[in-house]
Amino acid sequence: MHADHIMGVITLLRNLLYRTKVILYPGQVITKPAVQLFGPAGLRTFVRQNLKYTLTRAADRYCVHELLTVHDSITPCDPIPEGSTSFHSAEANIMHNSELPGLDIRAGPDGLWRALTEGPGRMSKILVDAGPILHRDPCIGYVFQEAWYPSRKVVILGDTHNPEAMIPLCSNPAPSLLVHEATDSHISPTADAEGKLSRRSAEKVLETALSLGHSTPEMAGAFAKRVGAQKLVLNHIGARFPAPRNNLDHDRKRIIRDITKKASMAWGPNKAAVAAVDFLRVEVPIDPSLKDTRNQPTTRTEVGIVNDIEPNPPGEIQGASSLRDYQFYDSEPVEYVNPNAVASTSTSQAGHIQVQDGGRSAFVAYDPSGQNRRKRRRKH
Ligand SMILES: [Zn+2]
Repeated sequence: MHADHIMGVITLLRNLLYRTKVILYPGQVITKPAVQLFGPAGLRTFVRQNLKYTLTRAADRYCVHELLTVHDSITPCDPIPEGSTSFHSAEANIMHNSELPGLDIRAGPDGLWRALTEGPGRMSKILVDAGPILHRDPCIGYVFQEAWYPSRKVVILGDTHNPEAMIPLCSNPAPSLLVHEATDSHISPTADAEGKLSRRSAEKVLETALSLGHSTPEMAGAFAKRVGAQKLVLNHIGARFPAPRNNLDHDRKRIIRDITKKASMAWGPNKAAVAAVDFLRVEVPIDPSLKDTRNQPTTRTEVGIVNDIEPNPPGEIQGASSLRDYQFYDSEPVEYVNPNAVASTSTSQAGHIQVQDGGRSAFVAYDPSGQNRRKRRRKH
């Protein structure tokens, strides 16, 4: 929830939700969110209060699902008092006009959020897991995995100096793509035309990075090696190493190449890390040794608690008062179950259907009432 990662979400959300329009169907109630946000405790209040303070009114609804540790308390989603038109800015428990109640997703006994949500992918359904990673403040890493062939896995870490807690989520299969931060780096004198960046020793750089809860390219490479990643992208590269302005910006290119080389060497022989730039597109490789097992969903064991009423202590399922008080604790491999699909109208259950039209396809949020239809096109 550091400012360099979160401040843009309000303007993004504002754009995604569209402006309010004249109400054509009086009494119309939107019960499905157009945008669902997932994030740590505090995200719900941050979004809610900022939307109130900026007097944001939107046509569509959103909701915030919070990933809670055992220590986090639940942020209530109190309704706006009947007959009220104000934004209730002071009352953080009262929802924003455009907000729908979100889920409170407790970490399992192992501290991980497994199968916290799912959505449609190009080749397979995509499952999302998350885990806590070490930074100077709480931080979360995410895993996006295809449920079946080609079973690719994308691991995107937040700011961290130690993402070890993610290792259980990074095995079987290993990540096809790992996105790991490399905030600071020692720069080799041969790569440094101005001679400024290479002045700091490797030891000094490492010490500073660790003290700020960040990683060096060598740490990113070592983690990629440890989890057997097929591809490694370095992001969150510090502002002292700006991205090359164009292909002829050789000084900056040499610095960035020096950074990726350090990660590649720590990763292993014949490995080549990539430095992220804005709007970078990366192909997520398919493991050639994998057999095409389409239409044979993998089985997974789920451990996790979905509960947006009261926290249940882990291991307790007695007294569940609704479907939302739900716990999965099977120790045998079971057919994949998504807690959110059971507990709420998540994207997959909200009736999103894919429409093919020539070479293009679009996801259409289908509203059974027929009142809120909208198409969003996506070029392929
Ligand atoms: Zn950051």
